[in-house]
Amino acid sequence: MKAPQQNLRTPGPTPCPDEVLDGMSQQMINHRGPEFRQLIDGLTDKLSRIYMTSGKVYILTASGTGALEAAVVNTLSPDDKVLAVSIGYFGDRFADIARIYRTNVTKLEFEWGTPADPEVIRKALQDDPGIKAVLVTHNETSTGITNDLESIAKVVKGEFGKLLLVDAVSSLGCVPLNTDQWQCDVVSTASQKGLMVPPGLSFASVSDRGWEAYKESTMPRYYLDLGSAHRYLDRGQNPFTPNVALLYGLDVALDMMLDEGMESVYQRHHEIADFTRAGVQKLGLTLLADDAHASDTVTAINNPEGVDCGALVEMMRTEHSVVLAAGQGPLQGKIFRIGHMGLVTREDIQEVLNALETSLTKLGYQLVPSN
Ligand code: PMP
Repeated sequence: MKAPQQNLRTPGPTPCPDEVLDGMSQQMINHRGPEFRQLIDGLTDKLSRIYMTSGKVYILTASGTGALEAAVVNTLSPDDKVLAVSIGYFGDRFADIARIYRTNVTKLEFEWGTPADPEVIRKALQDDPGIKAVLVTHNETSTGITNDLESIAKVVKGEFGKLLLVDAVSSLGCVPLNTDQWQCDVVSTASQKGLMVPPGLSFASVSDRGWEAYKESTMPRYYLDLGSAHRYLDRGQNPFTPNVALLYGLDVALDMMLDEGMESVYQRHHEIADFTRAGVQKLGLTLLADDAHASDTVTAINNPEGVDCGALVEMMRTEHSVVLAAGQGPLQGKIFRIGHMGLVTREDIQEVLNALETSLTKLGYQLVPSN
């Protein structure tokens, strides 16, 4: 199949720069040889810089969920008390993973479309001193909300000294996340979002405290054993056969980001998000998130009254080659989402806005432009 020419604006996978695609189409190398060592050592160093950690970042051949599962199985034991903070679909997923592995999960849920309140997290930790770890989603892709991770970390780490496991799948490399300064114990992310690489790789950092928890953890683990990843990395290897092509692509993408400078990358994401939100509102549509918590990587738009958003998303794809995402879970049929992470320009977003205007009119929606 030949991939269609589309304006892919789902919140992952994101379009890959041509340089990344070109970088991937190279011959294989021996993953137990010196060439691979050079590749993985360079990647580890670059990932640590983007993660803002002096520790190592481990590369898993798995999608983002693999790195979330790795966070759980490498630091926790069955029956450990876990506070799973959820503001949407992916917060629920993190909680489910912890539950499946038989930890004792208390879910702290916030209304979808709102962020987690650090004060409520503080209260939950006060109420149950037995809690060992807190799970939190940095950027909730299902609702387009970014949690104030720094403030949450101040409570979880600064005040209570709990383990902090972070889902940064749709934030890392787009929104500042200072792994060491905020004392995040495991930060998990994936290749197909801000890192602009095809799906199939995920990443996890581990703090010193995280390694202490690793030693105590009795959870079964094999493929996702980060201790094993650490030992192999010392030899410049992965425990298992890695996806070398994706690693070639990652090398190019990380160079592009670091050459641009991370401050510029973050600023660019912030500006494109503002542009998206303003453009949507100019069409008279309303946003799920308030400005203070709206994500710089994905914008959730309330379903215009009387419009079937499934039909809208379908029309955008078939008639304009613009691919958006529908709502998930309880927000299905209530919102649609525009992804703007990684490689995205104002022109790409303008094309989405133009197509939205045309499609909504065609679907009979009376656009009420606001001034
Ligand atoms: N967490 C978040 C915040 C995500 O956005 C996603 C993917 N949309 C995941 C976890 C799961 O990642 P994957 O589909 O790569 O397993």
